[in-house]
Amino acid sequence: MIIVMKAHAEPKQIEGVVKRVEELGYKVHLSRGEARTIIGVIGADEHLIAGEAFEVMDGVDKTMRVMQPFKLASRDFSEANSVIDAGGVAIGGQRIVVMAGPCSVESRAMILETAHLVKEAGATILRGGAFKPRSSPYSFQGLAEEGLRYLAEAREATGLPIITEVMGPDDVALVGEYTDIFQVGARNTQNYSLLKALGRQKKPVFLKRGISGTIQELLMSAEYILAGGNMNVMVCERGIRTYETATRNTFDINAIPVLKDLTHLPVVADPSHGTGMWQLVGRIALAAVAAGTDALMIEVHPDPARAWSDGAQSLTPERFTTLMGELRLVAQAVGRTI
Ligand code: PEP
Ligand code: MN
Repeated sequence: MIIVMKAHAEPKQIEGVVKRVEELGYKVHLSRGEARTIIGVIGADEHLIAGEAFEVMDGVDKTMRVMQPFKLASRDFSEANSVIDAGGVAIGGQRIVVMAGPCSVESRAMILETAHLVKEAGATILRGGAFKPRSSPYSFQGLAEEGLRYLAEAREATGLPIITEVMGPDDVALVGEYTDIFQVGARNTQNYSLLKALGRQKKPVFLKRGISGTIQELLMSAEYILAGGNMNVMVCERGIRTYETATRNTFDINAIPVLKDLTHLPVVADPSHGTGMWQLVGRIALAAVAAGTDALMIEVHPDPARAWSDGAQSLTPERFTTLMGELRLVAQAVGRTI
């Protein structure tokens, strides 16, 4: 349930409501807007509480039930879009954010070169995997901490904030020493120990949709992080597994407007994993911008033919530069900038 306080309710009145909610055994989530404070009542059976009991309290305007099973992630909880500060870059606002870089950090020279190239093309966040969740244990697993150090060096050199994947709760502290944004990959969307660990810290979390996950499951996973106290979460459509074999995954374009309607969290599109083919990445990226995405994640490699992972879906820096120009035009057509 959500308790909406009257405009400019007094701190004493807000405290009174919070105290009552806690007495009833529920957790409180306070959201202080410019004029109004909203009090989220969080708990297993919060739907059983009578709203009327709060509506008679001083300073309370109204109460609302959140019908969705995800509460803090719900659009009912916050009508306004959430804007996340990721190392100084705002995600979720009018400007569409482009995160670009290689699938894996392969060497110091390669990530530094790519960082400069994607920055020149207009990307504002650098991506690169140091811990790689590979389908085969015999495939390249990433450079681990060495890769994190190279990413941090690339941030120093370019000023671009960095995003990299964290695969388990035990790695949160280490990855958090380096990264600006934690990426949770599609294979870990329902790794609840990892989600809880990320909820206990404050850095932004980029949560991908599971390989065969529904939109509701994605938002329930986001809820784990939010319920832990970290409101800096963005959700990413990266393609799902269907019966179609012409592409690596089926990019669910519907997910973008559906997520925008269901949640206030920023929505990201990943056309690289969504298609698996560089030839399709640009067209799906353009469609995602038209569909209302707040950000894009695009794999770019200086020499895709020699990439250690995901070369087939990686754009060359030249193709990425051309795509950025096209993206700006579509963004403008839908009232956004890039
Ligand atoms: C990645 O971003 O390189 C990655 C492994 O993505 P996903 O988790 O979507 O497969
Ligand atoms: Mn990849």
